Amino acid sequence: MSQKFDVVVIGAGPGGYVAAIKAAQLGLKTACIEKYQDKEGKLALGGTCLNVGCIPSKALLDSSWKFYEAKNGFGVHGISTSEVTIDVPAMVGRKSTIVKGLTGGVASLFKANGVTTLQGHGKLLAGKKVELTGADGTVEIIEADHVILASGSRPIDIPPAPVDQKVIVDSTGALEFQQVPQRLGVIGAGVIGLELGSVWARLGAQVTVLEALDKFIPAADEAVSKEALKTFTKQGLDIKLGARVTGSKVNGEEVVVSYTDAAGEQSITFDRLIVAVGRRPVTTDLLAADSGVDLDERGFIYVDDYCTTSVPGVYAIGDVVRGLMLAHKASEEGIMVVERIKGHKAQMNYNLIPSVIYTHPEIAWVGKTEQTLKNEGVEVNVGTFPFAASGRAMAANDTGGFVKIIADAKTDRVLGVHVIGPSAAELVQQGAIAMEFGSSAEDIGMMVFSHPTLSEALHEAALAVNGGAIHIQNRKKR
Ligand code: FAD
Ligand code: AMP
Repeated sequence: MSQKFDVVVIGAGPGGYVAAIKAAQLGLKTACIEKYQDKEGKLALGGTCLNVGCIPSKALLDSSWKFYEAKNGFGVHGISTSEVTIDVPAMVGRKSTIVKGLTGGVASLFKANGVTTLQGHGKLLAGKKVELTGADGTVEIIEADHVILASGSRPIDIPPAPVDQKVIVDSTGALEFQQVPQRLGVIGAGVIGLELGSVWARLGAQVTVLEALDKFIPAADEAVSKEALKTFTKQGLDIKLGARVTGSKVNGEEVVVSYTDAAGEQSITFDRLIVAVGRRPVTTDLLAADSGVDLDERGFIYVDDYCTTSVPGVYAIGDVVRGLMLAHKASEEGIMVVERIKGHKAQMNYNLIPSVIYTHPEIAWVGKTEQTLKNEGVEVNVGTFPFAASGRAMAANDTGGFVKIIADAKTDRVLGVHVIGPSAAELVQQGAIAMEFGSSAEDIGMMVFSHPTLSEALHEAALAVNGGAIHIQNRKKR
């Protein structure tokens, strides 16, 4: 007899594992299918995010920042050090220990909540049946009342730079370098390219980023992307915009990359090359021909605003469906789907998903940019507060960047919060909370903020929207 569950989730990334835990918490008999094995060949839950994405990249960003600060940032505090060195295998090893702890934590949460873990490859058949193929090749058919597809995404490969995970690596390979490459190339100035480029640049690599577009971080507010480009360039990152990679040739331990830019054909030699040109949805062998689940024109599983697919009772969430490829978007979609399976009226506010780039300075935003609002014909008031005027930022010797708040000129409702600078991600989250509750800039301005905090910059930017900032000269007069 085949096993039967109320909910079967395929994929245990932040979309799938959160959905599975929530489903079990709501009293649904739940199984989660996952096939990913770690380097030791053991099943590892947590998906891209915990194994080769958000967490390992942040572990390396934090380690490399400490190294960079110890080397370059301590003198100003009167601290002197003897030679500062980095043991790369130890740094990478620390990262792997954190990953192990977290993926093991998901396994414990599954146990504690009564989620059944099924190891193997899941494939949706017609009639909400799922074929589970175990690592040993055994096949089992599982029945479900509801199926949630959460198979995630994988790096995009481009023919001009085929990944060999030695000299030419993808984001996963770039988390495993055992020594600092002297000359490091990065294709793609997206979030992943900038974060991984930063890690190795802080450790001493000479980093060149080749980006096909002429615009830097086009999704960010223009004021933020301009500031970011200026700062990263000052930090030594060589960011070449309008540079489209057309080919590469590996010669032993180096790679010659050809690209075209405004000046014509160019070439440049690196010791390692990271290909970070985006990610694509994973649907390989996920859907039987008669499953009835449709894909959209870009190869994502087609879903509506509630993550329901073209088959009743089958849902899809996270990177395998339209929208931002972010862990928190995947998780919240999982929660929404499970709540709706239980008959609750859940929905997601797709307009308020924060985006973060964990470089230094950190970059984060929520809501719309000034350019988008202007293009939409919305009249806005803008308040900006530089960290250079923040006592807390001065104390921390971290004064680059600013907070920018954009509010509707008619209603004063906050429409966008954009931060480049220390703790940008945490500050933007405060903006997101305010926006979720329909806050005006004046509302934020009237709140009491602890002193001295970086959050005061958010307060002051909100005051500046209507010309009331205290610690800077207001551009707008009241
Ligand atoms: P995934 O995490 O990709 O998980 C899908 C899982 O499904 C995988 O474990 C896979 O093995 C499994 N699977 C697939 N098909 C099958 C099948 N047929 N049967 C069984 N199992 C299957 N996002 C952020 O929000 N913040 C960050 O800081 C951040 N940093 C990142 C850094 C890097 C280097 C990368 C690569 C990504 C980063 N992301 C970040 C993006 C984030 O990792 C993804 O958005 C997130 O993991 C998507 O979650 P998911 O559950 O949809 O899919
Ligand atoms: P993201 O999708 O945010 O991860 O960013 C990936 C980036 O890679 C985008 O900004 C693309 O413009 C860039 N890109 C894609 N293909 C190439 C290429 N052949 N050469 C240079 N940049 C590229």
